[in-house]
Amino acid sequence: MTLQKKPHVAIIGAGWAGLSAAIRLHEAGLQVTVFESAHTLGGRARRVLSPSLRSSIDNGQHLLLGAYTETLALLHRLGLPPEQQFQRCRLTLQSADGRFRLKAAPLPAPAHLAWAILAARGLPWRDKWRMASLHWRLRQQRWQTPVGMTVLQWLRENRQSETLIGKVWHPLCIAALNTPVDQACAQLFAHVLRDSTGAQAWASDLLIPRTDLSDLWPDHIPAGIARHTGQTIRQLEAQEDGVLVDGRPFDAAVVAANAPAAARLLSSLQAPKSATGASDAAAGYLAQLQAFEFLPIATLTLQLDAPWRLPFPMLMLSEDASRGHYGQWLFERSRFIPGGDDNTMLSIVISNAGLLAGQDKDELVRAMTEQVREQTRDTGPMPAVQSADLIVEKRATFAATPGLLRPGNSTPWPRIWCAGDWTDTGYPGVLEGAVISGRRAAEDIVSSQR
Ligand SMILES: Cc1cc2nc3c(=O)[nH]c(=O)nc-3n(C[C@H](O)[C@H](O)[C@H](O)COP(=O)(O)OP(=O)(O)OC[C@H]3O[C@@H](n4cnc5c(N)ncnc54)[C@H](O)[C@@H]3O)c2cc1C
Repeated sequence: MTLQKKPHVAIIGAGWAGLSAAIRLHEAGLQVTVFESAHTLGGRARRVLSPSLRSSIDNGQHLLLGAYTETLALLHRLGLPPEQQFQRCRLTLQSADGRFRLKAAPLPAPAHLAWAILAARGLPWRDKWRMASLHWRLRQQRWQTPVGMTVLQWLRENRQSETLIGKVWHPLCIAALNTPVDQACAQLFAHVLRDSTGAQAWASDLLIPRTDLSDLWPDHIPAGIARHTGQTIRQLEAQEDGVLVDGRPFDAAVVAANAPAAARLLSSLQAPKSATGASDAAAGYLAQLQAFEFLPIATLTLQLDAPWRLPFPMLMLSEDASRGHYGQWLFERSRFIPGGDDNTMLSIVISNAGLLAGQDKDELVRAMTEQVREQTRDTGPMPAVQSADLIVEKRATFAATPGLLRPGNSTPWPRIWCAGDWTDTGYPGVLEGAVISGRRAAEDIVSSQR
């Protein structure tokens, strides 16, 4: 396809993928218009107003890694220095009760990790050895795991003990893939390890946003990108030399909605007639989109009535579903937020939160507050909870299971591309994957002009 000079591209969806595509296209000199159903930019990583807390919070606590180099480069290009937008901490996995701690040393890789494992608190020596040798073996195997294996099968095959799985691998897997070890894809998990703990020491740093997720960068996209929020696109129509987006003509479109919404929009198009087998390709692409399954993430935000300091801004909680103790990670939310110096806000994250469905919200808040109070006993008494908000994102990420076929950015329909964390990025459903996907879709469009 050859696009005309200064082509006009419609982006449908202002999540991190859509906005990443918009910026790249704008930088390449194309005209860009973004359409977004919601009133806020950011998609699944955005600011929301909490009526019960009477303040703006995020739809869910997010954590980034030093390895998210595309996202960090994007912030730089927008004039938002990452060191201003994030609190960067050395990799630290620390349980709220203080019994377990693994902290990367301020040394170059791989000594930073070797030291962390050697000096880990709460792990027997044989588990330290097993953990280190698994990491070493994985590196030797060029970060490849056997095809079709779940994380649990792979861990067992590599003689990881139940203690190690429970204390280290399960929390890491659920945080990175939002999929439990017995269902999660070992290869995707290995990719995360390759780019974080297996890379330079800074790649495994933890990056905690200092501001809300929309203000982190989506609100700061260049003014030259036209945006229409509160506008849901319902129909795409293929034209001879362009695409109609709810009746408005564009030279090309990037569908950057989540997989089910993208499938709905693409189904509104007629099957492409251009090439033999094109309609089969269209049916195949739609079938891949429809095959995704989704898992929820819940975030409980607690407003305390007095300041409180945790020993580290992010602590691991032990789960006990029989007591309603579903919390997995505890974040000291206000420590790094400007104006949040009073340290009165906590976030409790529950990945793969399907068990919360249908349960009484007040009871969940009570049980998880008790969980935090109980497990942080040694930190000093937790102040009383003034107000709370529990947000459950039902389709937080796709289930990152083995054998999942993920579509690419280009589609069988001419002039239409897709972007989203669900495209074939090699990552699970994470922010960095979304940013990479948006950039790739934009680069395809730009190169299609040449
Ligand atoms: C609670 C929670 C916690 C998470 N934690 C982390 C974390 O710690 N680290 C991490 O890396 N990732 C995390 N993730 C995953 C991360 O948020 C996603 O990978 C990322 O935001 C996906 O971006 P996206 O642009 O691909 O999709 P989305 O953000 O879903 O963007 C799609 C956009 O399209 C819009 N849209 C859909 N249909 C239409 C239409 N017809 N017309 C107009 N607009 C439309 C939607 O409103 C949405 O804004 C978390 C996700 C959640 C929900």
